[in-house]
Amino acid sequence: MAYQQRRGGRPQGARRPHQSRGGRKGPAKKYIHPSKFINKAVAPAEEIAYEATHRFTDFPFGAELQHNISKKGYITPSAIQDQAIPHIVEGRDVIGLANTGTGKTAAFLLPIIERQSGIMLRPSVLVVAPTRELAQQIDEQFREFSRGMQLYSTLIVGGMNIDRQIRELKRRPHLIIGTPGRLKDLIGRRQIQLKNMTTLVLDEADRMLDMGFLPDIRQIVNEMPRERQTLFFSATITPEIEALTKDFLNNPVTVSVRTSETSEHVEQDVIEARDKGHKIDLLTEMLEQDHYEKVLVFGETKYGVQRLSDHLDNRGIPSVAIHGNKNQSQRSKALKLFKDEKVRVLVATDVAARGLDIPNVSHVINFDTPQTYEDYVHRIGRTGRGGAKGHAHTFIDAR
Ligand code: AMP
Repeated sequence: MAYQQRRGGRPQGARRPHQSRGGRKGPAKKYIHPSKFINKAVAPAEEIAYEATHRFTDFPFGAELQHNISKKGYITPSAIQDQAIPHIVEGRDVIGLANTGTGKTAAFLLPIIERQSGIMLRPSVLVVAPTRELAQQIDEQFREFSRGMQLYSTLIVGGMNIDRQIRELKRRPHLIIGTPGRLKDLIGRRQIQLKNMTTLVLDEADRMLDMGFLPDIRQIVNEMPRERQTLFFSATITPEIEALTKDFLNNPVTVSVRTSETSEHVEQDVIEARDKGHKIDLLTEMLEQDHYEKVLVFGETKYGVQRLSDHLDNRGIPSVAIHGNKNQSQRSKALKLFKDEKVRVLVATDVAARGLDIPNVSHVINFDTPQTYEDYVHRIGRTGRGGAKGHAHTFIDAR
């Protein structure tokens, strides 16, 4: 093996890696001991599978929706679906404590879709999500689940043509799915009327708070009728989140299916490298191997991420990048190429990769060390999903 790799166990007497940032300005990087990046995966076989108490056919969904659920390949409800759907069907407000990858999207979409058929007052449902990509994924799932049911949705996100969104809104879609900034903009222009809406979904509320959207969300929620159903999803519950649920929800039921914060199915390693050039050489060598099937590489800066992706491309490893300097259509295009497995490598910043649901990622590579251990856990959570074994490699400075 050309690159040095240490496997398993805690490195004995590991010294603190160099912290020099080559004279670069900016906040000092928080030191994270390399032992945190090393962990043998627990065999997925040891996982106790969730035993659903319902089948999809137990839910009061019409034939068309049942057909679309099975066409999508869903056989049994996931834990959040199993536990939340009955309450949502009943009309209760629900707090869903669930991360991405648990099936929370279908948990709220399915009962909403069922209720939409035949509704005259439109639009009646507003779904608010933190990122454009997440909003887009919700919209895609809505379209798949409602196929053949004559239900319509409009995606209201920034970075896309606003006139087209206004035209679509005039056709009175059943669902509006959007991100806080653009939603607020169109509500301000009186293109979206909230006073007749019956249902509000706040997805990844904790992320929206982290991203500073609280004032926008409050403004949006204040314009909605008090008499409504509110579905509130968050991966974490902090005092701030709890306070919000008190303000926004009425006698809610809480359903918690949070998975543990460490990714137990992910085989974790560190790779020592002398400098950036060495890291690129090692990364290229790794990516030339066939078992690196679908690889998500994390970098720290927008420029660094783009440069690294170009570099890999030049070395004959087709790669795409997503980061904040790309516009929405460039980001969607890159993401689609990666999701459809037209390219094997996606290089991303933490922010750009937030909330993305990318199935079957075989490896996560931390080209730049994450700023915090939480970021690390978040990054590596993109692999090893659904009981599959994933791999994470983190570059650290050679001693
Ligand atoms: P989500 O947490 O909603 O982002 O969903 C994560 C992934 O799991 C998506 O690719 C879904 O299509 C998939 N999924 C959700 N529910 C089920 C289910 N009951 N059976 C199989 N796959 C599912």
